[in-house]
Amino acid sequence: MTKNFPLAALQLPIAAMAPLLKKAAKAYVAGSTVEQALSVAQALGPEGAANTLAFWDSACDSPDKVIEMYLQTVRASAASGLESYISIKAPSFDFDPSRLYPVLKAAHSHSIKIHFDALAPETVDATFCLIEESLLVHGDIGCTLPGRWSRSLRDAELAIRLGLTVRVVKGQWGAPDGEEIEPCAGFLNVVRLLAGRARHVSVATHDPALARRALVILKNAGTPCELELLYGFPKQGVLKATRALKVPVRFYLPYGHAWLPYALRQAVSKPRILWWLLRDGFMARHQRRNALCVQR
Ligand SMILES: Cc1cc2nc3c(=O)[nH]c(=O)nc-3n(C[C@H](O)[C@H](O)[C@H](O)COP(=O)(O)OP(=O)(O)OC[C@H]3O[C@@H](n4cnc5c(N)ncnc54)[C@H](O)[C@@H]3O)c2cc1C
Repeated sequence: MTKNFPLAALQLPIAAMAPLLKKAAKAYVAGSTVEQALSVAQALGPEGAANTLAFWDSACDSPDKVIEMYLQTVRASAASGLESYISIKAPSFDFDPSRLYPVLKAAHSHSIKIHFDALAPETVDATFCLIEESLLVHGDIGCTLPGRWSRSLRDAELAIRLGLTVRVVKGQWGAPDGEEIEPCAGFLNVVRLLAGRARHVSVATHDPALARRALVILKNAGTPCELELLYGFPKQGVLKATRALKVPVRFYLPYGHAWLPYALRQAVSKPRILWWLLRDGFMARHQRRNALCVQR
């Protein structure tokens, strides 16, 4: 039913969709503070024991503010006793190694991994330069490789050489012209290249068949791996499809600014995303109502 919902004819102007988008975005963040994100992790019970804490900044946040939030996240994570790693976005602090230094030092002293999210393709080279510098301070660093970019195979070789852990995703940003490949095929190509060679691989997808295939490849090669899921996305299908493989599951918990995890442009051109949007607007209302019930 969901994918066939007849929304193709629905051409909502972007301005009219703004309130809906704002409401839908709230379903994807675990709160506005790291404490709220950690409460969500605790409420997930054993399921949330392993998590990724990701401060999502807004366009108004200065690089210094972003760094301060990353530092707070490292400290709160260390105090929580939960198994967390910290995900960061290099463009949000201008790829500046001197700004990042205190975060790396704190992460190093608490043995917490720092992981770099993937953003637009033009940010990748600067992100890998920063990763190489970061390794001089802290050895536990991860990167994200989008399957839909042909360059990710080269970046996977670099990640192996640098000893990084890798999160494989389909990717939210398109590749430059001629460098885009079908996301599922690209995802599996990257996984095959990493299998047996990477330190650790997170299979980050809610696509049940893809997650299963990727995890089987990694397990057969003896590569340490996990399933990493986004808070707020539907999880039952992918958990059911992968349960028998007995791989650890981790939840990525964004907090701070509620960005939608898909582009507005995509939502307008792809009817199935419009359907998710409508459903998520409902989910946000529903989750808030449940939260209020719990508080009473
Ligand atoms: C843990 C994690 C970390 C990520 N980190 C990054 C990153 O650093 N950089 C990056 O570019 N991308 C990142 N992504 C996003 C990723 O690139 C995809 O855009 C996203 O995961 C959707 O693709 P999918 O592989 O889950 O498959 P899809 O086929 O797109 O989705 C599978 C199913 O998930 C559900 N679903 C998918 N999208 C939505 C949605 N927006 N709302 C509600 N339900 C939805 C639907 O039921 C759908 O059938 C991350 C994803 C995860 C899970």
